[in-house]
Amino acid sequence: MLNDPFVNARKQIDNVAKYLDIDKKTLAKIKTPDRVLKADLKIKMDNGKTRIFKAFRSQFNNAKGPYKGGIRFHQNVSESEVKALSAWMTWKCSTVGIPYGGSKGGIVVDPKTLSTGELERLSRAYMRAFYQVFGAWIDVPAPDVNTTGQIMAWMLDEYQTLVGHQEPAMITGKPLELGGSQGRTEATGLGGFYILESLRRKWKGPTLPKKTTIAVQGVGNVGYWFIEFAKKAGYQIVAWSNSKGGEYKGKKITNDQLLELPVDVLVPAALENMITKENAAKIKAKYIIEMANGPVTPEADEILFKRGIVSLPDVLCNAGGVTVSYFEWVQNNMGYYWGKEEVWAKLKKIMDRSFAEVWAIYQEKKVTPRMAAYILAVGRVVQAMKLLGR
Ligand code: NAD
Repeated sequence: MLNDPFVNARKQIDNVAKYLDIDKKTLAKIKTPDRVLKADLKIKMDNGKTRIFKAFRSQFNNAKGPYKGGIRFHQNVSESEVKALSAWMTWKCSTVGIPYGGSKGGIVVDPKTLSTGELERLSRAYMRAFYQVFGAWIDVPAPDVNTTGQIMAWMLDEYQTLVGHQEPAMITGKPLELGGSQGRTEATGLGGFYILESLRRKWKGPTLPKKTTIAVQGVGNVGYWFIEFAKKAGYQIVAWSNSKGGEYKGKKITNDQLLELPVDVLVPAALENMITKENAAKIKAKYIIEMANGPVTPEADEILFKRGIVSLPDVLCNAGGVTVSYFEWVQNNMGYYWGKEEVWAKLKKIMDRSFAEVWAIYQEKKVTPRMAAYILAVGRVVQAMKLLGR
């Protein structure tokens, strides 16, 4: 298959291995998930009939800590996609130095076609199928595409009923009332804003926020909060868009036009594969902050790098979300809760440190910022595996 996501994920690991001291056995190990579980979930539908839904959980690597990764409900979920996303979660957690491995799960379903009751039964069935491999110190799921705080609450209830004790740290992205963290809603956008601030102190662009122009593609949860924090700091958000199109300085534009605007910073915050080999040569921004997952294809990455455009990778820029999920888990384990300001101050420390670490490798090794992040992340996982004697 040409665009098999897991084939691409493995290729990425081969590419980074050239920069690290990895023997063949270890390389083979870090290219393979530790465990992939599959289940057929049988659900009684509202019309009385039974339907079967395919479900997956891929636990990629836990050398750095319990597996961590969301659960996606989408009609295009596949085993390959779940495996690739679990690898990528491993590298994201490692890039920002939080004590987790990586995992991912999913159900092949279009949740918009289900009633609330059907959705609840499906969520509970997922937990019943896999509860033995979940747990605060085993594998900690979270929301992903089309899964919500309510779905996490149903899954938590099912889990606690099955194991017979309370364990809120077994799942994150919970509603505040059930031990969710303050400041989680804004976390991904805010984390990206911290990256923007760090970048501005290093770059060859304008020194002041009020002289810095930014275009943001996608004003969902992530894009919205990125814009809010950037605007408050004085940055000029000159263009934005959603799935229907956008605006540049008050005039209507298409999404494709937004990507090619002459701005200092371009922020793709919508979907994957937006900057491709077709449009990479036309990008005029000097800097890209990848807030969506996978918005720049590997071919485009090469073109941008050759053109001197600095594209900061998703594993760094959007890690604010999983970092505050980590804070949620810490607070649940302690049974002691922080206010929003404390959460954000702790997030800033992690984002600032991670930016500095990735930037140092980028400067020293003269590779793409993405490769710099992968050198850091994969290197840390390999080091942990060596220490564990794996
Ligand atoms: P969302 O569903 O809240 O928002 C997505 C936005 O993108 C919407 O405004 C939508 O209109 C817009 N959009 C869709 N197709 C578009 C197109 N073709 N062109 C322009 N805009 C388009 O989603 P979100 O939670 O903000 O997530 C956005 C991206 O960030 C995703 O790639 C997601 O995986 C990633 N991400 C999210 C989080 C998080 O905490 N929410 C964490 C890490 C990564």
